[in-house]
Amino acid sequence: MQKLDMIYEGKAKKVFQTDDPALVIVDYKDDATAFNGEKKGTISGKGVINNKLTNFLMQKLEQAGVPTHFVRELSDRETLVKSVHIVPLEVIIRNVSAGSFAKRYGVEEGIVNDSPTIEFSYKNDALGDPLINSYHAVALKLATPEEIETIKKYAFKVNDVLKAFFLECGINLIDFKLEFGKLPDGAIVLADEISPDTCRFWDSKTGEKLDKDRFRRDLGNVEDAYQEVLRRVMG
Ligand code: UDP
Repeated sequence: MQKLDMIYEGKAKKVFQTDDPALVIVDYKDDATAFNGEKKGTISGKGVINNKLTNFLMQKLEQAGVPTHFVRELSDRETLVKSVHIVPLEVIIRNVSAGSFAKRYGVEEGIVNDSPTIEFSYKNDALGDPLINSYHAVALKLATPEEIETIKKYAFKVNDVLKAFFLECGINLIDFKLEFGKLPDGAIVLADEISPDTCRFWDSKTGEKLDKDRFRRDLGNVEDAYQEVLRRVMG
């Protein structure tokens, strides 16, 4: 598989064309940003950890019946994935109050939801990824009502699978963000990454944060926390 021109560079990953138009290579970086790019830094070794974790979890989800863009891990930082049109929605599932949910609604962090919530943000850096509802998403032609139903179904399935799995690893899955893509035939698949950059992980015994909040909130030991998640998940 030949790595050709870079077609996209995001905050945490680069994407390269390959000699197969249906496939692209994702290359994970150590760069970290927060607060819509206002805070910038490096988390040494993060790219390797996020690549491995994402691939492990994507395969687990495939086995559980959630279609994903994953094809094959190529190296420590590089993975071959199906080329998709990303649906410009950030899909956020919450099991426990934290982050912007706690702030927006004026509640403490750590309140357990009776059932998980779902919300959407419009992926648009210039607008700061505003919260939108599914009717707005349809009005803006970001997705069809059928695609949104499929995305919801997959997102809750991902939560069921990952929540149970992480608990076995001594980790509480507090909340997370997913992105979905569309294949040329119109099928919706899970894309992007699943990592401490995109999930909140709290140690199930001590409550210690094992995710990007350590970077966002300057809590220290950021690299150690990412390593610890990888160790607990993959041994
Ligand atoms: N999240 C993400 N990318 C974003 C926004 C949020 O991966 O651009 C993840 C975040 O890591 C957390 C969940 O989505 O696991 C919910 O984030 P929240 O809405 O609370 O926003 P934040 O507090 O991170 O601004």
